[in-house]
Amino acid sequence: MRHLRKFLDSNNSFALMAGPCSVESEHQMRDILEHPSIGALVRGGIFKMRTRPDTFQGLGESGIEIIKELKKEFDFDFITEISDPRQLEVLDSVTDMYQIGTRNMYNYELLKEINKYEKPVLLKRGFSATIDEWLGAASYFSNLKNNEIILCERGVRSFDNKLRNMLDLGSVIYLKKNSPYKVVVDPSHSMGHAKYVREASYAALCAGADGLLIETHPTPQAALSDKDQALSLEEFQELSNTVKELLSVFNKELFTHNQDLLGKNNKELYTNA
Ligand code: PEP
Ligand code: MN
Repeated sequence: MRHLRKFLDSNNSFALMAGPCSVESEHQMRDILEHPSIGALVRGGIFKMRTRPDTFQGLGESGIEIIKELKKEFDFDFITEISDPRQLEVLDSVTDMYQIGTRNMYNYELLKEINKYEKPVLLKRGFSATIDEWLGAASYFSNLKNNEIILCERGVRSFDNKLRNMLDLGSVIYLKKNSPYKVVVDPSHSMGHAKYVREASYAALCAGADGLLIETHPTPQAALSDKDQALSLEEFQELSNTVKELLSVFNKELFTHNQDLLGKNNKELYTNA
C-alpha cells in the first residue's frame, strides 16, 4: 500500500489508475504491468457486476490467485471492486483500495462492512445519486481518515443516450471546493467509447480532479467486458504524455511517473532513460 499511501498523503499529485475492466488471465495482467506507461496504481475487476448473468462475471477466486502471484514479481497497489461482504475475506490479501461500484453506492450494509476493514476506498457515484447522497455514502466510512476516501465521478444517467453516461464535471468542481476528499474521474464508464476517453480525461484534469481511473487492455477488442471503452496500452501512453504536459500548467505532478514511485517493473526502463 506504500504507493497509494503516498498519493493519499500528497497535495499536488495527479494519479493515473489504469488497468482492465476485468482481470482475465495472468498473461493479460503481465502485459499491462510490464508496460512502461503503467504506474504503481493498477485497477482490475475480479468479481464483476454485470447487467446480464449470461456475460462474463469475472474470474473470482482464480483472479485473486493471479494478482497474488504477480504481486510477488511486480511492485504495484491493486484496486478492485467489492460487491458483497462475503468477498471481503478473500479480497483482503490482494486489495490495497476497495472500489465501490455505482450500483452499490446505496448499499449501506456493504459500506458498513467495508468500513470495518479500515482500508482506503474509492467510492463511485451512484448513477442517479445527487452529490449529497454521494457524500452521505462517504460518511459511512467513519473509520477512515478523509484522505483515505476517494470519490469517483463516473457519469450519471441522463435524458440523452448518445453516450454511456453523462459525465458531470460540475460535481468535480463542486466537491473540490466543498468536500475534504480527493476526487477522481472515470472517463471510460462515463463516455463508453475509447475514442472519447482522451478529451474527457483532459477536461477532468482541468476541472480539478486528482486523478483518473481508466480502463486499459493489451488487446481491447478481445476484452471480456467493456471492450469498446478500453484504451490500448499505446493509447494510454499517449494520454499520459499529454496529461503530464497539462499538469505543468496547474503546478501538479503526475504521480505514477514519479521515478521513486514506479514499481520495479519499470525501474530498468527509467534508469536507462
Ligand atoms: C468498473 O469500474 O469496472 C465498473 C463496473 O464501474 P461502475 O461501477 O462505475 O459501472
Ligand atoms: Mn468496466
